Amino acid sequence: MTQLLNLPGVIVEDSLERESTIILSVRATNKTAVCPRCDRKSHRLHQNKRHLVKDLPISNRAVILSVNRRQFKCEFCRKPFSEI
Ligand SMILES: [Zn+2]
Repeated sequence: MTQLLNLPGVIVEDSLERESTIILSVRATNKTAVCPRCDRKSHRLHQNKRHLVKDLPISNRAVILSVNRRQFKCEFCRKPFSEI
């Protein structure tokens, strides 16, 4: 499934198949993110937010990505930010 998506740095954690729909839970593999304000790396996870992306039909089935978009907390400016 991970190879099917062919997205570098993204892994499929879980997949759920309905009749004509495939729901894939994906997340980024990197453990750090760079604060957009001060350009510093943070590995302090603030929270997880899931959002659904309706995307790319694969062999006539609708594929919905449930993306775990993590929020980090910058250790420098102490503000939360989302990874891209
Ligand atoms: Zn910062």
